Amino acid sequence: MSDIIRIAIQKSGRLSEDSLRLLKECGIRFDNGAGKLKTTATNFPAEILFLRDDDIPGYVEDGVAHLGIVGQNVSEETDRDVDTIYNLGFSKCRLSIGIPRATGYQGIQDLQDKKIATSYPRILSKYLKSNGVNAEIHEISGSVEIAPGIGLADAICDIVSSGSTLLSNGLKEVEVVMRSEAVMIAYKQMTEGQRAILNQLIFRIDSVQAAKNNKYILLNCPTESVDAITKLIPGAKSPSVMPLAIEGWCSLHSVISESDFWENIEKIKQAGAQGILVIPIERMVL
Ligand code: ATP
Ligand code: MG
Repeated sequence: MSDIIRIAIQKSGRLSEDSLRLLKECGIRFDNGAGKLKTTATNFPAEILFLRDDDIPGYVEDGVAHLGIVGQNVSEETDRDVDTIYNLGFSKCRLSIGIPRATGYQGIQDLQDKKIATSYPRILSKYLKSNGVNAEIHEISGSVEIAPGIGLADAICDIVSSGSTLLSNGLKEVEVVMRSEAVMIAYKQMTEGQRAILNQLIFRIDSVQAAKNNKYILLNCPTESVDAITKLIPGAKSPSVMPLAIEGWCSLHSVISESDFWENIEKIKQAGAQGILVIPIERMVL
């Protein structure tokens, strides 16, 4: 049988949409009709499994799936023997400790002997231990943020992104236990053939990610400003410069990282640039 890799992604939840988008941006086509648990890609040697996120690391450890996309929080909590091979940059959040807003807080020692409700007992207990705090960890599987309000715990440790869930439950964030984003995890014992498919996939993800972080920039400027502007746009190589029909002016094209662009935009304008266009790049083959 020819090699195929099985990729596990979350069936339905906060990782699902971005996981699907990533695979599609990598040019992998498949039918993910409602309720499907497994589908086969039509143009890439892969099968996609749709699972609960908590189950993904275990499946990848066992080789039922060869790759999985999960939050670092889940990967660390489940503590399975897998390789983390790619930080994907989406589903960024943090695992934090929250306490009732009215409760005073001086520092982590205030959690000594307190009862903390969480779905992340392993990560939390490591964190408390490394800070020399002894607390009682109360494991619950969902709706952790209501625990203090119903007298179940003094504090919680849960996922926070904007903090609005904490706020609407009368809590405040007092410690950040870990920061998390989606990662790709891999089975440790893939065959040569599977590794080759994985390398193809990684190559495509690299191109997608590079394209996201970069923009194609076009601008017009007086010919004498070309050197100054070139210094402000550290591009892929050196910019392309083309003469305009108007004497003494040219058009300059380059690839620039989005953050460099925003940092330098004022200087670029001051150096004489006009008609600046910033265009998204669909793929960047490195
Ligand atoms: P499942 O039913 O698959 O077990 P779940 O309810 O455990 O789903 P979700 O709430 O869908 O999980 O979250 C999945 C992952 O997305 C989390 O483990 C975390 O890494 C990330 N995440 C959770 N909340 C947020 C948020 N508010 N913003 C960004 N990322 C988040
Ligand atoms: Mg889950």
